[in-house]
Amino acid sequence: MMKKVAIVGAGPCGLLLAHYLLRRGDKYQIDIYERRGDPRTVSFSKSRTYPISLNERGMSALRQIEGLEEAVRAVSVEMKGTVFHQKNGKTRFTPRQKPLVTLDRTNLIIVLLEQLSQKYDNSRLQIHFDCSCTAVDFVAKTVIFQSVLTDSSLKIPTNKEEITFNYDLLVGTDGSRSAVREGFLSTESFECEDKYYPTDYKSIFLDNAKNSKTHLKSDNIHTWRLDDGTLMVALYQVDGTMSGAINFPREKNQVAGLSSSKEILEFFQKNFPVIGQVMTEEEAEAFLNRPISRILTIRCNRYHQGDSVLLMGDAAHAVSSSIGQGCNAALEDVVVFDNLLNEYSDDLAETLKQFTVRRQPDGYALVELGDYAFPSSTSLFIEFIFRELIAKSLHRLFPQVFPPSLVDLIFETTVPYSEILNSYKGWVSKVKKSNEKVSTNS
Ligand SMILES: Cc1cc2nc3c(=O)[nH]c(=O)nc-3n(C[C@H](O)[C@H](O)[C@H](O)COP(=O)(O)OP(=O)(O)OC[C@H]3O[C@@H](n4cnc5c(N)ncnc54)[C@H](O)[C@@H]3O)c2cc1C
Repeated sequence: MMKKVAIVGAGPCGLLLAHYLLRRGDKYQIDIYERRGDPRTVSFSKSRTYPISLNERGMSALRQIEGLEEAVRAVSVEMKGTVFHQKNGKTRFTPRQKPLVTLDRTNLIIVLLEQLSQKYDNSRLQIHFDCSCTAVDFVAKTVIFQSVLTDSSLKIPTNKEEITFNYDLLVGTDGSRSAVREGFLSTESFECEDKYYPTDYKSIFLDNAKNSKTHLKSDNIHTWRLDDGTLMVALYQVDGTMSGAINFPREKNQVAGLSSSKEILEFFQKNFPVIGQVMTEEEAEAFLNRPISRILTIRCNRYHQGDSVLLMGDAAHAVSSSIGQGCNAALEDVVVFDNLLNEYSDDLAETLKQFTVRRQPDGYALVELGDYAFPSSTSLFIEFIFRELIAKSLHRLFPQVFPPSLVDLIFETTVPYSEILNSYKGWVSKVKKSNEKVSTNS
């Protein structure tokens, strides 16, 4: 019998999961519920998007669905390495053996949605936008959504309607503040730690980069670091514009207090002159009005509840963006789940249980690596650079004896995060101690 699946959240994880489940023939009837509007027809405020880089973990998950990799690459730029811009104007380049595929998060969502609607009609797939999950009942197997009805002539929300959906399988892919995960809190022996990462960020969009010439290479990610831990990341997009994010410590930072577009322009011209050069007054004003975003990290001891509820992606293991892995891991979750469905012949009770067994150690390790792979203190950061150089050289010379460097293992392989953490646990615990010292002294 066809199983009724409710996927809550049409982010990268939920949409890819729909592709994988629908590919399994007519075993599953999919309803996706998304709190926001349809990004193919509604344009979002830029505070809700940012560039995402995908490596082999994410790309191999996309590749297994016909046509997805090509469609994603068509709106992406390949990055061959990272340029670290130093204060003295010099640069240091770290090449990648396998280029990263970078694109705007909204564009990734649009590609995943377009491919779904091209392949499946609404007899097996329904996508409900402007529907927010407000409650779950794991015993009755129902989930409740609040839909916001929009008056199409006014384009403003006019009325709220409550929808109840009966499911055979409920999957929470609704991000770090997951409403489905809230339902787990009242179940026995579920533990979840949510913590704000100590660094906040603001997205930056430099549309003017298309018209003005910078000497920045378009196939590199560009980074600048200030002594107070502020990190600026910028990269070219497929349309010739640049975007990125400035990440800064929550306490004692130079960004949160900037109160006019003039101050913003001066700040960028002084600290990141290349960015300052291309930033227009209009972009500085938009930057000023964009809210500061906080990053929530999530560690759970269990990703399933009984035989019918599952958490995936950020809802299960949200991680700091500093490690550039959240989306890759969310897409990889789908492959792990699909492999388990194969292994257990679509027996949901066993598949869900095994998903926790197989994936939770990696989810936990991912968050640990996100928090502690990269140090905050400048001295330890220099040590980190040397360690990377040495590890890369040793691995190149004696690949059988020395493993790839920490960064290469994370970005260039599909080695499970739990194995990476195990190989580098000494370094991770050193960074943990150092970061704790930095935060108690600040
Ligand atoms: C600045 C920044 C840079 C990043 N860079 C990278 C990178 O380079 N590489 C990388 O791999 N990762 C990166 N990430 C992380 C990545 O964006 C996330 O890990 C990824 O988007 C997770 O996908 P998801 O589908 O699990 O969740 P999300 O992308 O968070 O999607 C969840 C969806 O659920 C919807 N939703 C939420 N609540 C409800 C509700 N109650 N009802 C219905 N719908 C709901 C949301 O509107 C959203 O559409 C970055 C993150 C940030 C903030």
